[in-house]
Amino acid sequence: MKTGQEYRESLRELKTELYIMGERIDNIVDNPYLRPHINTAALTYDIAFDPEVMDLSVATSGLTGEKINRFTHIQQSRDDMVKKSKLLRVIGQKTGTCFQRCVGWDAMNAVYSVAYEIDQKYNTDYFVRICDYVKFIQQNDLMVVGGMTDPKGDRSLSPSKQADPDLFVHVVEKREDGIVVRGAKAHQTGAANSHEILVMPTVAMKPEDQDYAISFALPLDTPGIVMIFGRQTNDERKLGELDQGNITYGVVGGEALVVFNDVFVPWERVFMCGETEFVGMMVERFATYHRQNYGACKAGVFDVVIGASAAMAEYNGVPKASHIRDKIIEMVLMNDTMHASSLAAGYESRPLPAGNYYPHTTYANITKQHITRYHYEICRLAHDITGGFIATLPSEKDLAHPVIGPMVEKYSQARADVPAMDRIKMGRFIENATGGTALVESMHGAGSPQAQRVMLLRDANLEHLKKLAKNVCGITTNQD
Ligand code: SF4
Ligand code: FE
Repeated sequence: MKTGQEYRESLRELKTELYIMGERIDNIVDNPYLRPHINTAALTYDIAFDPEVMDLSVATSGLTGEKINRFTHIQQSRDDMVKKSKLLRVIGQKTGTCFQRCVGWDAMNAVYSVAYEIDQKYNTDYFVRICDYVKFIQQNDLMVVGGMTDPKGDRSLSPSKQADPDLFVHVVEKREDGIVVRGAKAHQTGAANSHEILVMPTVAMKPEDQDYAISFALPLDTPGIVMIFGRQTNDERKLGELDQGNITYGVVGGEALVVFNDVFVPWERVFMCGETEFVGMMVERFATYHRQNYGACKAGVFDVVIGASAAMAEYNGVPKASHIRDKIIEMVLMNDTMHASSLAAGYESRPLPAGNYYPHTTYANITKQHITRYHYEICRLAHDITGGFIATLPSEKDLAHPVIGPMVEKYSQARADVPAMDRIKMGRFIENATGGTALVESMHGAGSPQAQRVMLLRDANLEHLKKLAKNVCGITTNQD
């Protein structure tokens, strides 16, 4: 297992083609736009050596029997699925932000499970390939980004019917030694500071979409892969310190557009190629794994936001006001409901045909649906408790100014025994953690809300529920 420092050093060896704000970046590790995201990802490495968390952060590989960082683990049991949820909450509490590494973890589990089932039907050898790939990731303790979301073009048209055929990743050439792919994956959390990308399709497909039904893995510095880093709300504040709010870890995981300009993939790194009927399964598996997580990582982040809100109430001198206490209770209720759903999805997980465990789909979808609502509601209450102060604070440059700095500090003072700087720091954290990019990420990360609602209705089995009602009411007639 790598330490955080070893992870950082390993990034220096990558020759990725990455652009930020229109400039090619050669030194990823020391770039201020990336630094907080790298610090956060590094914690997923260091936590494997933290004796207090090791029970959660270290797992035993089902493939090699070796001790591995849990972020590279193929889920072997319900216990693993529960530990995953607990681990993500702990890291959320330590960082107050997204730590990015779960996407690739879920992608490996999803592809592992589906490769097995494709082999059963077509006698292919995808499962051996993904097992070898996962062993390679485990043994080198690499960070993988799970590449799912294509740009998607006109949402009413399938991949092969788009005006521009590249709006979904597809095969442009099949060779004896591998395939050549073209297209892009959008909103790729952690891509800029990952070693590898594991690509999956993004929507269920029809037989005519065969060239788009692909899953493969590549090092992110493979020639032909170009990454363009996304902007975030307030991202220029990363160039300073205090105004950023969460100085060490940033406010949300950094995202990139990953473009594949005719990139060669050797066959041993291809895990699906043309089996359109398995695409929907792969999309759903990945989404369900990732939806369980949201009730855990976000609950950890919101533990920090709730703590910051309570601290702000204290700094303002009103910790005991009954309406403040009531709002804090409401925040705790929503936050622990999110995590309870995530834990339930783990406790009710079941093994797939490949043997790895898979969350309870309804509970995982409920988890993510809660996030799309409760995240906004918790932020609303945090703003309510904290006051307009967080929206109008002068900058850290004003604070550093010899003449106006003392004025800003003097008039930011609330309770006399609390340093004004503490209140400013806490206010900045709340401002950054509760707005802009972080909110939208909770809405659309792991799939937009409608995607969860479709699965909730499908799995609700209304026919069965109607039968229950008819039995209770003594009704024997049936309608279509
Ligand atoms: Fe992990 Fe949560 Fe970030 Fe997704 S949003 S990558 S689950 S920390
Ligand atoms: Fe996310």
